[in-house]
Amino acid sequence: MKRKTPPTDLHLDTLAVRAGVEPSQYSENSEALYLTSSFTQPDSETAARRFSGEEDGYIYSRFTNPTVASMEKRLAALESTQACVGTSSGMSAVLLMCMGLLKAGDHVVCSQSMFGSTLKLIGTEFAKFGVTSTFVSQSDVQAWRAAVKPQTRLLFAETPTNPLTEVCDIAALADIAHAAGALLAVDNCFCTPALQQPARLGADIIIHSGTKYLDGQGRVVAGALCASEELVRNTFVPVMRSAGMSLSPFNAWVVLKGMETLGIRMKAQSQQALELAQWLQDHPQVSRVHYPGLASHPQHALAMRQQSGLGGAVLSFDVKGPELRRNAFHVIDSTRLMSVTANLGDVKTIITHPASTSHGRLTEAQRQAAGIGQGLIRVAVGLEHLDDLKADLSIGLDSLA
Ligand SMILES: *Cc1c(COP(=O)(O)O)cnc(C)c1O
Repeated sequence: MKRKTPPTDLHLDTLAVRAGVEPSQYSENSEALYLTSSFTQPDSETAARRFSGEEDGYIYSRFTNPTVASMEKRLAALESTQACVGTSSGMSAVLLMCMGLLKAGDHVVCSQSMFGSTLKLIGTEFAKFGVTSTFVSQSDVQAWRAAVKPQTRLLFAETPTNPLTEVCDIAALADIAHAAGALLAVDNCFCTPALQQPARLGADIIIHSGTKYLDGQGRVVAGALCASEELVRNTFVPVMRSAGMSLSPFNAWVVLKGMETLGIRMKAQSQQALELAQWLQDHPQVSRVHYPGLASHPQHALAMRQQSGLGGAVLSFDVKGPELRRNAFHVIDSTRLMSVTANLGDVKTIITHPASTSHGRLTEAQRQAAGIGQGLIRVAVGLEHLDDLKADLSIGLDSLA
């Protein structure tokens, strides 16, 4: 069949719409969904070659499926990595990475402000298998360097963090990791490759929760790990094949189609978040706004350099006291539009109280140390009209006294 030869050196927005596996013999314009658990083999010799890895070919959807492969190719193109593996969730991408890279005696350095389940997986679950870890301040490059030991195999960062949007210097951490003979992994969930490509800054592995901005409309749980062809083929795919944290073709298809609008969504939602952050900063009942796009953010200059000049779509703010928790609950419960739910990355704006939800399992002292007070509210800004979002927050804020 005659096909057009696509040009190379395409822009990210083009890759988000076009990169993937080739269409089938029917030349469908929208990517096909191959909802099948296995693939028939033409003959026993071919089957033998495919099972042994001598020949490429689809076998069984735990580790090979064309829809999942399309999603992987598209995300790898966006992240500027050679390869990608889709996983059943963001957390299973972290699990796959840790199972692939770590063994008893190895050491990991992580930011202490990382996603809660990541801290638990590495600090508690992998500790059971003899992996040790050190958790350091997100933005203190010196602390990362000081934490490295001869057994350090992996540095793992996430930037910006949830909910305080603390930013770390990816290029500086890559230098520290490589000088120690370790790898740097970055969870790029908050920025997505539309704003930040960690591989271009030296990161070796990029982790995604496809559940968030890649899907973009809150429909499926999905994940992915992006890295070099060598790491994916020799380290991660064999673990996936044995352990089966596989991405379902249906969920892969939803994420694949979601990525087509990633660029415009991230720009529009970041712009809304910036305007909402500026408006909140001037509100008399708000004591502090955390958003990388604001000049008042401690790592504003680094964030603007590292994130294509955009702050992302998540912000948080502290309401004034004296009754911090009561006031925060009042603002959240007064909204009529925003969703009170444990997610982010949706076109629907989401409002949460971190101290009693995502960070509710921490002790009060741990929360204090992390800077997550009872008056803190997180908003993951969506695509509703900005005036309606301001009006929604005003109901509670204006009636605080
Ligand atoms: C949600 C999230 C994860 C976990 O992703 P799941 O798809 O829910 O497993 C990991 N990292 C960050 C930063 C997240 O926000």
